[in-house]
Amino acid sequence: MKRYTLPDLPYDHSALEPHYAGKVLELHHGKHHAAYVSGANTTLDKLAEAREKKDFAALNQLQKSLAFHVSGHVLHSLFWKNMSPHGGGRPDGDLADAIGESFGGFEGLKSQLSAAALNVQGSGWGAMAWEPLGKRLVVEQVYDHQGNIGNGTVPLLVLDMWEHAYYLQYQNLKGDWVNAFWEVVNWQDVARRLASVHTLDLML
Ligand code: MN
Repeated sequence: MKRYTLPDLPYDHSALEPHYAGKVLELHHGKHHAAYVSGANTTLDKLAEAREKKDFAALNQLQKSLAFHVSGHVLHSLFWKNMSPHGGGRPDGDLADAIGESFGGFEGLKSQLSAAALNVQGSGWGAMAWEPLGKRLVVEQVYDHQGNIGNGTVPLLVLDMWEHAYYLQYQNLKGDWVNAFWEVVNWQDVARRLASVHTLDLML
């Protein structure tokens, strides 16, 4: 069976300092992200076993576990690429135009996404996603890794608001973590993702 694997970071652990401490990034990637990869593989094994034994007594828990761990793996894989030591500033070109259409400008996106991230209840993420039916960008407030999102949306820019993401560096100052994130956003990466969703025919 195909296995999930932990991707390498696209930069050194300390590359995002001072905005993101190297030790925190190392733990986040090497321990937390790795646990989602391992959880996804374990869940796939258990699902295969359930099919072989024709025993679906634990299926509801396994389906929940699959959604949680695969979504955790997807969002962290995206998150690392959404950041860069050369990031920050503002988007330009087609991405800036799309943000202008959907949010009335960069400040509209920044304020809504920051508020969505800061107000997550419990663990979750703030995200900017492409909504293919309306062909527009939306902000989503993700519960855990998989809840409260619109079906069919494609996340393009995500911000981890789980305590493990920031607490060792920023303690309870979540706003400082959100501000730090904006300083390292890799807008080239987000623009590349937007350009690729335009080429998808999602048949919606
Ligand atoms: Mn995380």
